[in-house]
Amino acid sequence: MGPDSMGPNSMNTGSMDTDFFLSWLNGAAELIRLRRDHLTELDAAIGDADHGTNLDRGFAEVRQALAEWPPTSPEQVLLSAGNTLIRRVGGASGPLYGTAFRQMGKALETPVTAAGFATAFEAGVRAVERLGKAAPGDKTMLDALAPASKALARAVQEGAQAREAFERAARAAEEGAKATIPLTARKGRASYLGERSIGHEDPGAASSALIMAALASAAA
Ligand code: ADP
Ligand code: MG
Repeated sequence: MGPDSMGPNSMNTGSMDTDFFLSWLNGAAELIRLRRDHLTELDAAIGDADHGTNLDRGFAEVRQALAEWPPTSPEQVLLSAGNTLIRRVGGASGPLYGTAFRQMGKALETPVTAAGFATAFEAGVRAVERLGKAAPGDKTMLDALAPASKALARAVQEGAQAREAFERAARAAEEGAKATIPLTARKGRASYLGERSIGHEDPGAASSALIMAALASAAA
């Protein structure tokens, strides 16, 4: 992060409306669909080969629910997505992602600013930590989500606009996901493998990076 990443001391207040959150979630669904087989391959190496299919099915239903019952606020978008993921995705990732979106929705204040988004996002990540009893370094989705949350908070502190803040968060998530490769899994199914989980990227961290990439795209 060089001095060129220091934006003016102002925040984007105008663009994060209901449509913005819809394009985030719909974009995430699209990216997960495109990367479904890759996510499943990652899970085949250290889990039970269902992460891509689990999430793709879940996010397709998220999309469908958002279209059938159009939400009228950012909070409603996140609650709808969270509820659908909790209800419809088997496996650890459904309740974890679902809780993250729900808690984020509850913590979100409207109108949504970059700073407000960062605070709500952090609440979502905390909820994942509580529910999964995991911490960064355990080789889970938190290894992408926690650095993303930190990067987001730092960007906002430095006065970055939403678009730049989300790009920095997406980069941090991507780097965090790649950084799970040398780790030993301490939570979830992959932990049964112990040291044999070393050398593989965590599937949940990889899908978290996709969700953050969709966030950056929605703001671009
Ligand atoms: P399952 O492991 O039940 O088959 P998925 O394959 O859909 O569920 O999701 C696996 C991912 O869930 C892992 O790669 C990891 O990132 C995440 N995960 C599993 N357990 C936890 C946990 N306790 N805390 C945080 N994330 C977890
Ligand atoms: Mg699995």
